[in-house]
Amino acid sequence: MSAKIGVYICECGPNIADNIEIDAIIDTLPSLEAFQNEELVVKRFKLLCSNEGKEYLEREIRENEYSHLVVAACSPRDHDSTFINICKKTNLNPYLYKMVNIREQCAWMIPDKEKATRKAIQYIRGAIGRVLKQSELFEKELDSNPDVLVIGGGISGIETALSLAGEKRKVYLVEKSAELGGKAAKFKKLLPRQGGSSDIIGKKIEEVIKDENIDIFTETELESAVGFFGNFEISLNCSRDDRSETEFTVGAIVAATGFELTDAAKLSQYKYKKDNEVYTSLEIEDMIKSEGKVTLRSGKEPESVGLIHCVGREEKGYCSQICCNYMLKLASFLRKQSDSIEIKDFYRDLCLPHQQDQDFFEEVRGGGTEFIRTADVKIKGTHIEYTEIDKKKNEADVDMVILSPAMEAGKGTENLAELLNIPLSETGFFKEEHQQLNPVETSIEGIFITGACRGPAGISESMLQAQAASGKIAARLIPGKKIVPEVKVSEILEDFCVGCQTCMEICPYGAIIFDGERGVCVVNEAVCRGCGNCAGSCPSGAIRAKHFTSPQIYREIIEAIR
Ligand code: SF4
Ligand code: SF4
Repeated sequence: MSAKIGVYICECGPNIADNIEIDAIIDTLPSLEAFQNEELVVKRFKLLCSNEGKEYLEREIRENEYSHLVVAACSPRDHDSTFINICKKTNLNPYLYKMVNIREQCAWMIPDKEKATRKAIQYIRGAIGRVLKQSELFEKELDSNPDVLVIGGGISGIETALSLAGEKRKVYLVEKSAELGGKAAKFKKLLPRQGGSSDIIGKKIEEVIKDENIDIFTETELESAVGFFGNFEISLNCSRDDRSETEFTVGAIVAATGFELTDAAKLSQYKYKKDNEVYTSLEIEDMIKSEGKVTLRSGKEPESVGLIHCVGREEKGYCSQICCNYMLKLASFLRKQSDSIEIKDFYRDLCLPHQQDQDFFEEVRGGGTEFIRTADVKIKGTHIEYTEIDKKKNEADVDMVILSPAMEAGKGTENLAELLNIPLSETGFFKEEHQQLNPVETSIEGIFITGACRGPAGISESMLQAQAASGKIAARLIPGKKIVPEVKVSEILEDFCVGCQTCMEICPYGAIIFDGERGVCVVNEAVCRGCGNCAGSCPSGAIRAKHFTSPQIYREIIEAIR
């Protein structure tokens, strides 16, 4: 039976109509020899994306009972979904439709009207050729679990749990230590732009403990997570004996496992732990939190302190972004502790990304802290040798040295990445799907990363990321609603598969498994994102990327260049 193809050309106001001879396209297409066995109906309309245009197209599809549809208009980025929805409404399988961009790619690109028209004809005939080779695909709906597992009970994990938990969504919050709050809970004071007071952390911990929809597992780690977006089977390893139920299902997983500080003892130039009065910034936080002030081991208050930035930055190869602010906070605290204390701040570059940070710097400098820009710093106990930025060598003696070590990925990051099958970046943190476009998602759909486990981040940034991940989860994992997995996935034709497993190695989403009994690989369609990498890699040509098959692509090219 021959196909009946509706081809609709949108004028897009003057955008297309003024630059392309639409009537010439309407005359040309039905006369083409390549489509003589098909029934082609070619029409124009002034604005297909308007309500009037959509109603018109809907009516046309119903009345003409098309088997295929081609829309030549603007960019599919703008309106592909508009026309897909019209197909769905009229029961035309949307995988038998194709949109062609004759606005950006022809009308706006080519000043010569005749040439633009010729190019538009080529594009449209390519699309007609392609739809004739396309097959119906059917979307399936799957039940999904709206609950979420959050791994990490620091500020980012807590914020994620609070943002997501509700009457219809339970959150499992898993923390490997005995306490919630992470490193932020150690802080007595926050930065001025974070409100100054650390009450905010304590209040959030209280809130999370009180929330009946958040199930907290402390002293617990993830044992396994198997499944896909909407349905992950979780098993936990809990060292407490008051938790019996450690297996459950969730729809999404958020890793918020935070960071560690670089071990300053491994950096020979700082002689950390070899002298009594050399401390890391977190040790000073502990001291301030427990004793309310900074003291030497003798109990006396220091009369001079050297603050050293960027400890381990060169070795790590990145800036930790928050240490400069952090040292300003300590300098401000020390100044409040003593009017007469001498504070020397040794920095290489100052990273002050916000206006309030710059104001804070001016305030601390105005309070008497001496800022010394250095090219190199070495310490021998509390004797500091440094090279200033203008290469001048100098030295100073202080009562106490405080180091600000670089942030690095937490100890369990690698292990967790393996359990979740998500990639790590070259710096050892979890790797996001895309740094700018998709910064809190990973390559595995349904697994999110927030806070300092995805790279250096302060408290405010970690909380913002937590809210971003929560928003994405809440929008896609709606309680009571089913999810529709991607249907343009790959399939392996078993008769051609020799079981070499090349495709398994190449798949960035871990969607392919090896069936040892049959000696072939199989695609898990619920996990496959349809990227097509495997199809290009299979040496046996055993993989077919649905909706991007060779016959479809060849026919499109052949018609377009005829
Ligand atoms: S690459 Fe091809 S032949 Fe090798 S296992 Fe995968 S599907 Fe089979
Ligand atoms: S198309 Fe192939 S490589 Fe891409 S996600 Fe699916 S199975 Fe993996």
